[in-house]
Amino acid sequence: MGTSLLHIDLTAIADNWRALDALSADTVETAAVIKADAYGLGVGKVGRALVKAGVNRFFVAAAEEGVQLREAVGPSPWIGVFGGHMSGDTDMIADMSLVPMLNSLDQITRHFEALPNAPFGIQLDTGMNRLGLEAPEWETVKELVMKAGPDLIMSHLACADEPEHEMNALQLKNFREMTDGLDVKRALSATGGILLGPEYHFDITRPGIGLYGGLPYEDAKPVVRLECPIIQVRDVQTGETVGYSNTWTAEEPSRIATVAAGYADGITRHISGKAVLFDNDTPCPIVGRVSMDLITVDITHLDQVPRSLDLLGPLQTVDDLATVGGTIGYEILTSLGARYRRRYIG
Ligand SMILES: *Cc1c(COP(=O)(O)O)cnc(C)c1O
Repeated sequence: MGTSLLHIDLTAIADNWRALDALSADTVETAAVIKADAYGLGVGKVGRALVKAGVNRFFVAAAEEGVQLREAVGPSPWIGVFGGHMSGDTDMIADMSLVPMLNSLDQITRHFEALPNAPFGIQLDTGMNRLGLEAPEWETVKELVMKAGPDLIMSHLACADEPEHEMNALQLKNFREMTDGLDVKRALSATGGILLGPEYHFDITRPGIGLYGGLPYEDAKPVVRLECPIIQVRDVQTGETVGYSNTWTAEEPSRIATVAAGYADGITRHISGKAVLFDNDTPCPIVGRVSMDLITVDITHLDQVPRSLDLLGPLQTVDDLATVGGTIGYEILTSLGARYRRRYIG
């Protein structure tokens, strides 16, 4: 096979959800965030696996993603849309029973006019300045909105992956001030917020990255393994170079394997010459530049030529690769390309 194989462990995703669910009280509902095609891992398969594990509530970023998820999981799970009710979304929201998180006065007006009796949520801005109503706006519509009975009120933490950051307590305080005493379910925390402790949990939590094996949830089970087939092997002499721009020169006679994965598959060029691939537990350094479809790897120290090498797996997680590539695990995951074959486990 000439393309890499992405192994996706659905059992590990379900286990990670159960473990995150167990971090909050039984009265707290743990939803699942499955935006961006389940962080690149396949919204249909992941959605169905999570429903089987007990998830009744999902969040996606856009109505279009909600449509895809609804088609995969059927009529029963609740599906919230972080992006709210945009113009052009009305039919999707109505036909697929999506619940928009209304972010602005414009969205509230649009939703109330287009779908007067349809469910909705409210997103408040507690300091991140990205999405949601700010406190003065909220004051002007609070009464009207509460009369209509939102499914939930949510906000989002900007710095939850840094437990000591003062922003967490500030946003918690703002959220409380804007919502205390209201008869409505509240949701503040994604993965990072769950780890900050019970005062951040409220009624519903919204983990995403932790389900998929990423930081800040250190105890997550690894979910992905990327197996890259070796297409060709060659021996190079001292002084020969490998790859574009001759960035690597053999300092001794070396054996170079060329594997099928490249930046067109979401493998950032920034790992060129820095990351490794694994033959079982033996690391093999990338040499030269990552190119569009291919990566060259030094396998001089291996006793025999394996059929494939792993770029992601338990020994090199998405966060490990992200650190080498100067990004975050989220970006590695969501960049994983469409060209891989995918094998689902569980
Ligand atoms: C993406 C997102 C989440 C999930 O965040 P993770 O850090 O992946 O757990 C939760 N809430 C909102 C509003 C989001 O945009």
